Amino acid sequence: MSALLKVENLTMRFGGLVALNDVSLSIDKGAVLAVIGPNGAGKSTLFNVVTGVYRPTSGRVTFDGAEITGRPSYEVVERGIARTFQSSRLFSDLSVLDNVIIGMHTRTRTGVLTALFRPGASRREMAACVEKAETLLKLGSGDLFEQRYRPAGTLAQADRRRLEIARALASQPKLLLLDEPSVGMDDTETDALVADIARLRALNPELSVVLIEHDMRVVEAFPQHVTCIDYGSKIAEGDFAAVRADPRVQEAYLGK
Ligand code: ADP
Ligand code: MG
Repeated sequence: MSALLKVENLTMRFGGLVALNDVSLSIDKGAVLAVIGPNGAGKSTLFNVVTGVYRPTSGRVTFDGAEITGRPSYEVVERGIARTFQSSRLFSDLSVLDNVIIGMHTRTRTGVLTALFRPGASRREMAACVEKAETLLKLGSGDLFEQRYRPAGTLAQADRRRLEIARALASQPKLLLLDEPSVGMDDTETDALVADIARLRALNPELSVVLIEHDMRVVEAFPQHVTCIDYGSKIAEGDFAAVRADPRVQEAYLGK
């Protein structure tokens, strides 16, 4: 099977610091890849390079058959990659519902918002948009839908993380990048997150997910493809059992 996302020999330097060192990996359509590694290993940088936040010092990113190395973020989203951030990037003063609607506008360059607020935008177009957003809010665990008119900033931490995912899904991605989605969640909420990801995949078997995770409960739930990064370099890959047993991985975690 040909890879949906392929990262080849990616190096990212920030001055003297090598945040990514010659990293290569790929993910097939419909697969889940877990990226693990100690703090500061370069995991978020990998997402930042893939999504066009940074242009890599060297290396290539290919998505869905096209090279996207260093392409601007809006283009990357248009092509079908959506992400969440390690720390929340919601619009806290806007309602939960509006945050999802904003996620839709990235789908096209002109955007849903422009289309909606142009003179003469039909009530029907607006209603369709709201309906789509509401469907996304009903999808996950928790009760985001019931809280849809609340300002996003007033949500509990776990709900904020769920809203980030709903917003990312609003752009109808082929690839979803989740940066530590379980941060701030207790075990029950983390289990619900795992169930949410599993449900998304059941609804759309072609959706691919890259998951940066600290919580091994989540990694264990998606054990097939795991990559470990340490000091910017890929030190192990394989299934969870193999990666966990790798002495370099154990050393990387013990050393911190
Ligand atoms: P992780 O997500 O694995 O915890 P990061 O990718 O956030 O790690 O960071 C990897 C390294 O790159 C860290 O040492 C971090 O300080 C550094 N880094 C990340 N972004 C920048 C930046 N914009 N400028 C300078 N250094 C950065
Ligand atoms: Mg990070």
